[in-house]
Amino acid sequence: MASTNVSTSTAQNSSAAQREARFLDALQAAGLRLTAQRRAICHYLANTDSHPTAQQIYEDLKPQFPSLSLATVYNTLDVLVRLGLVYALGGAGDRAVHYETNTDPHINLACLVCHRVVDLPMPEVGAWESRVAEASGFKIFGARLVYYGICPECQRRSQDVSH
Ligand SMILES: [Zn+2]
Repeated sequence: MASTNVSTSTAQNSSAAQREARFLDALQAAGLRLTAQRRAICHYLANTDSHPTAQQIYEDLKPQFPSLSLATVYNTLDVLVRLGLVYALGGAGDRAVHYETNTDPHINLACLVCHRVVDLPMPEVGAWESRVAEASGFKIFGARLVYYGICPECQRRSQDVSH
């Protein structure tokens, strides 16, 4: 299921390989051992734009890494979130934390029916961030801008049902 969401996404300023290298460096700097499992998690995160939950990451990697534990997924994510390399986005109407791996300027749209989170590239968000930094005096590490609603597919599906 998640594999269908992995796409060569548009408008990303940093390549998947660059992101993966940053993730691995961060884990090492945090004193975590770069086990095969942790490398796989970093590879997965660097190559997805599907905003997975920890559970989804775990289920997708488990067949390949039978010894993988959910705790390893969580502690790997925790380090990356703490360092601002991955954002914890909160739920999409499903009470599960979705993780954002693309920290380039864009906005997220969360569908409250299918709980999908999609990216909408929006370079203006970068300029907006500078204005916020200027107005507040904050040094900005990241932002999350999430619009909630119903995606086009789910709108179409509900129309099919009612006709
Ligand atoms: Zn939907």
